[in-house]
Amino acid sequence: MADIVLRDVEKFFGSVQVIRKVNLTIKDGEFVVLLGPSGCGKTTTLRAIAGLEDITSGEIVIDGKPVQNLHAADRDIAFVFQLYALYPHLSVFENIAFPLRATRQPRSAVERQVRQVAAALGIEHLLARKPGALSGGDMQRVAIGRALVRRPKAILMDEPIGALDAKLREDMRMELKRLHIENKSTSVYVTHDQVEAMALADRIVVMHDGVLQQVGTPSDVYAHPANLFVAQFIGSPVMNIAPAAVKTEGGRVRLALGGGAAAFEMPAELAPRLSATGAGGALSIGVRPEGVQLAREPATGTIDLEAHLIEPLGAYDIVDLKVGEGFLRARTPAGFVARPGDRVHARLDPAQTHFFDQRSGASLG
Ligand code: ATP
Repeated sequence: MADIVLRDVEKFFGSVQVIRKVNLTIKDGEFVVLLGPSGCGKTTTLRAIAGLEDITSGEIVIDGKPVQNLHAADRDIAFVFQLYALYPHLSVFENIAFPLRATRQPRSAVERQVRQVAAALGIEHLLARKPGALSGGDMQRVAIGRALVRRPKAILMDEPIGALDAKLREDMRMELKRLHIENKSTSVYVTHDQVEAMALADRIVVMHDGVLQQVGTPSDVYAHPANLFVAQFIGSPVMNIAPAAVKTEGGRVRLALGGGAAAFEMPAELAPRLSATGAGGALSIGVRPEGVQLAREPATGTIDLEAHLIEPLGAYDIVDLKVGEGFLRARTPAGFVARPGDRVHARLDPAQTHFFDQRSGASLG
């Protein structure tokens, strides 16, 4: 297994630039997820690492060796696609054994390695079958087995479970995580599904328009989004984002939302940070639904708001609170707000309230 380093990598298709100055180090044994919306350049980045796509400029180094001039076959990397790309006329055994055939190892060694990987994936009983007789999940297990069997330097996966139904996707997600914990293969995984990214990644790379927006652990990007794009892309339901006017009077800080429809009192300690940015209105706040705290009785820092809509999700509810023309979404224990129209007392948890420069989108901390 090996480190993968991208230095100033750029890619143009004709005159269209799809990757912009990407710098990234993927550490030996790490599971890194490239996450972003459709068209942000994550597949192109993955294909560039694999050697399936030339880069326009920059350098890609695998295990200390620049590889941008090496063919895909000479990079010792395995690639798993969304569509399984199995050989339909070969058995599962032969599909998994395929990459070992070129190595001219004795039959017994091939058999041992295929059985080992099949056991790890729980598909030993399927070895004699043809791919056509497998479920989607099992086909993908075979494709992963084929990628792992020759112990490549790294394994690259492009939405490998995107074609499976929701329940199977969840099972496979956990299996991939278990496999990674056992094998510690350097893994780069592309998805547009932030839940998948959060569940699998040691580190998430959030991409947008060919630019790396943030690189960090799942908890890091969730709790400290670097900008408005990351804040809104990570987390479900999405973070509340609203333009806010900050007023500091006599050491107190008030955050007015919804054109002044709601003014939350915040700790005085925030004052220097917010005034230092020269915000004066060009500021947005971001707060996740769990950061909007509700109470039945008024308390310090709460304001009175009306519940507009209640979405019961079983373990908890999501409640839309009216703030001017917009809404603030709160996460509450199930049944906390009985019906739309009820009034509740809301406060913003200062530790979970983020501030963003409205123009650049950058986090102000
Ligand atoms: P998706 O999840 O939809 O695959 P992505 O984030 O993986 O999206 P890429 O597939 O890397 O994005 O594509 C990035 C941009 O490059 C897109 O605008 C796409 O249309 C364009 N693109 C990709 N491959 C080619 C190609 N061979 N020729 C021209 N443009 C391409």
